[in-house]
Amino acid sequence: MKNIVILGSTGSVGKQVLEVIRAHPRKYEVVGIAAKDKTSELTSQIKEFKPRVVVLEENGQKSLEKLVSYPWVDSVVVAIPGTVALGATLKAIEKKKRIFLATKEVLVAAGPLINKAFKKYKIQLLPLDSEHSAIFQCLQGEDKRTVKKIILTCSGGPFRNWGKEDLKKVKKEQVLSHPVWKMGPKIAVDSATLMNKGFEVLEAHYLFGLPLEKIEVLIHPEGVIHSMVEFNDGTIKALLSRPDMKLPIQYALFYPQRPKNPWKNLDLAEIKNLSFQKPDIKTFPCLNYAYLAGKIGGTMPAAINFADEIAVEMFLEDKIIFCDIPKIIEKILKTHKPIFNPSLRKILMVKDCVRDKLK
Ligand code: MG
Repeated sequence: MKNIVILGSTGSVGKQVLEVIRAHPRKYEVVGIAAKDKTSELTSQIKEFKPRVVVLEENGQKSLEKLVSYPWVDSVVVAIPGTVALGATLKAIEKKKRIFLATKEVLVAAGPLINKAFKKYKIQLLPLDSEHSAIFQCLQGEDKRTVKKIILTCSGGPFRNWGKEDLKKVKKEQVLSHPVWKMGPKIAVDSATLMNKGFEVLEAHYLFGLPLEKIEVLIHPEGVIHSMVEFNDGTIKALLSRPDMKLPIQYALFYPQRPKNPWKNLDLAEIKNLSFQKPDIKTFPCLNYAYLAGKIGGTMPAAINFADEIAVEMFLEDKIIFCDIPKIIEKILKTHKPIFNPSLRKILMVKDCVRDKLK
């Protein structure tokens, strides 16, 4: 039995982690959970898994850091959206816990800082995001120097093939119903603007240590191929499975073993066709903003991450329309003065700078 802590247990990923744990009894004991609010969901999780410690996010970063630091904790799932879990992630690395990472912001906002910590404490990070899990799996047994490029696949979101004019009429409800994946509201908006894919490009850049020029995005609406790696000899390895977060979660939790899964598997004959197209970055510029921010480096990726966080919040509160989201991010990309080699404190301070600029 391994002792696991789940940061973000009532979120979409957290709940699916618990489903995987439930499906494989006697492998993990849930010793700690952290959630945003005291909900009935949390109460039933406490009843079922009987964790030793429960933390509410409102108790602050320090209590999250304490939770991951207990000596009896082996592994930590980081699945709290935003940068709330950044300090706790660094703490968990320092304490040499095995990390299962779902929170994109950890690498997007603090990639170099996190990578430095991983090198120093020599521990492994296993990605839970389907795309990064796919790349991780395609790279097994391969020499990274032979990678020509990574091809991140993308469903295209609910407005794939829409024009710029159509996007002005987008309603919130249309954004919140993703065609392929089950997800929370922030990531649903990010998937519709393609900002999510932009963040995944940055995540892959830090996670696999590859230059941005070697990371490409390809629209693949069926969501069957979760990403690909092209090698120097022209061979492309792809990972196919049903679009279900529980599969990459199970892969990470059991790595390097592959136990049977109790869920439905992929039936290619039922799917029949797989299609691909290039992303339309004129209509969905957020994808491009991620590349630009990544090239600039320093605190620029963190700045666009915060700009997006604020813009999505405003959109969900009906303060702006869908098409305003990329405009807000572009404004920050043009005006933020990046700090290079920032500390965690400096990274978190960028949020206030961005908020002031957007007032
Ligand atoms: Mg993803």
